[in-house]
Amino acid sequence: MAPHARTVWLSLALLLLATRAPAQTARLEVDLREAPRRLIHARLTLPVEPGPLTLVYPKWIPGEHAPSGPIRDFVSLRFTVGGRPVSWQRDDEDMFAFHVVVPAGARELTAAFDVLPSVGDGNYSAGGSTTPNLAILSWNQLVLYPEGRSSDGVGVQASLRLPEGWKFGTALPVARASGSAIEFARASLTTLVDSPVLAGRHLRSYPLGVVDGASHELVVASDDGARVDLSDSTIAPYRRLVREANALFGAHHYRSYHFLLTLSDHVDHFGEEHHESSDNRVPERTLVDSGPRIANADLLSHEMAHSWNGKYRRPAGLATPDYQKPMRGELLWVYEGMTNYLGWLLAGRCGLFTSEQARGEMARAAGTLSVRPGRDWRPLTDTGVAAQVLYGAPTAWASLRRGVDFYDEGMLVWLEVDTRLRSLTKGARSFDDFARAFFGGVSGPPQVSPYTREDLERALTAVAPSDWKGFFAARVDSLTARPPLGGIVAAGWQLAYADTATEYFESVEELYEETDLRFSLGVRLGKEGTLNDVVLGSPASKAGLGPEMEIVAVNGREFSADRLKDAVEKSKSGGPLTLLVKDDEFFREYKLDYKGGTRYPRLERRQGPDLFERILAPRAGR
Ligand SMILES: [Zn+2]
Repeated sequence: MAPHARTVWLSLALLLLATRAPAQTARLEVDLREAPRRLIHARLTLPVEPGPLTLVYPKWIPGEHAPSGPIRDFVSLRFTVGGRPVSWQRDDEDMFAFHVVVPAGARELTAAFDVLPSVGDGNYSAGGSTTPNLAILSWNQLVLYPEGRSSDGVGVQASLRLPEGWKFGTALPVARASGSAIEFARASLTTLVDSPVLAGRHLRSYPLGVVDGASHELVVASDDGARVDLSDSTIAPYRRLVREANALFGAHHYRSYHFLLTLSDHVDHFGEEHHESSDNRVPERTLVDSGPRIANADLLSHEMAHSWNGKYRRPAGLATPDYQKPMRGELLWVYEGMTNYLGWLLAGRCGLFTSEQARGEMARAAGTLSVRPGRDWRPLTDTGVAAQVLYGAPTAWASLRRGVDFYDEGMLVWLEVDTRLRSLTKGARSFDDFARAFFGGVSGPPQVSPYTREDLERALTAVAPSDWKGFFAARVDSLTARPPLGGIVAAGWQLAYADTATEYFESVEELYEETDLRFSLGVRLGKEGTLNDVVLGSPASKAGLGPEMEIVAVNGREFSADRLKDAVEKSKSGGPLTLLVKDDEFFREYKLDYKGGTRYPRLERRQGPDLFERILAPRAGR
């Protein structure tokens, strides 16, 4: 069929426009061959037009809720056009912006630069990310883009060069790979930044099953080759996790899903969510030693749940069009708090947690939030608003500062929402119904659907009408002396204290290499006896102790964590508690007035049905 004359004219006009406008795809070549010595090289070629141009380096990193782009480690920047240098100037006020003037006739601008992966003092993806044997590549650290352009509107064709013999895993679709050279399919800057690459000498991928047309994979890298050979029984709970998550939400919003799991003692330890993958970094022996395994049991389930809560549905203040616009964290008690609840619930349903370990996590959260003097000045909502300065805050006076309490306290709030939905509907409906309605829909590729607090309240009302606005106002916006423990009580349990710690509690102490006596003396100490935190109003605080002081002797004998715990235990039968403390270069003795013995939070059964058993019961078919 011949095209209509008018259409031909239009097509010609469009063709003319297209040849005048710059091609929209940037080319990014990243070289990881020197990553083992903490040096990453990159070259970015951008389509441009002659004249002044401002390029920006990503500042606000999704999932980190903070201006954490590692601009300090972005070095050796050189711009060229056709091989000729082009001078640049950093903006006087915005450290993340670079001004250049593109010479007449130029169509492409090339930026060559290096990134210096941190050796440990950055935060999250800007923290330790390389070892002699592996590297986690976060693309946001290796791009510049035109100021004012939305990340959806920038196309990038990325390629990657790996050290010889290294393998890789990523959710980013690959166009072709040969040996250590990989070419990725063209992607938007949004997708690129959302798709980190895990590469390493010792790396293996394990299929976790196909659900609704999407494949799921566990990609494991480690400094030790033996750590990446996983048994069927180690993999099995992750296969169940994939099925439980899909059963809970009823649909997914990814083309495929990759858990990137780094087992190393030489990278920063954290998890970061993405739409189609997650970047999970834990100590090397996490899958073989029970301490780090139990303490991290719900890390992968938390990060995967973010694909629904955080990536697909996102608080409006965090759904920004690019990486320069500041994020607003007022709904982090939903973004992170509800995800903490989802991660806990899914870990229980897929068997990564036993019921007892799952209760252990709730007890630790409830206990910790009960020794928080900061509750009397900072409402929960402010911990989210201030998240950008609270992440990475020191542990000293954490109980007074509160820190990122929206994780644990948000989890308690959402547990209470679940039990409330159940009681309002006499057991007919639950949080599962809300999750399916709010996060489900139809399976397909990633998309973002922002939400407000009113959207949440409306969705909850649709499951069970109630004064949800008042419910959240009382828990989130108000100063509350006690944490929200209503969900635990409604589930048939209560917060209690015992003289021994739960298995979960001990595993967290082991992971953080600390002794946690906040519930007895009111202190949290590091391995060497340094006080990481002192709870105001506690026996230690009343005696005059403060953070950063170091306990060197307990009742006249050299400090060890066990000796201190023994002395606390013996205080019950009248034993003394005299601590010799080193504070800078000064030594001083402190006598503590405490007779309560050791005390640790745990959950104790009340009467009525055990709702935890119902909440944590598997939903997916086996
Ligand atoms: Zn999270």
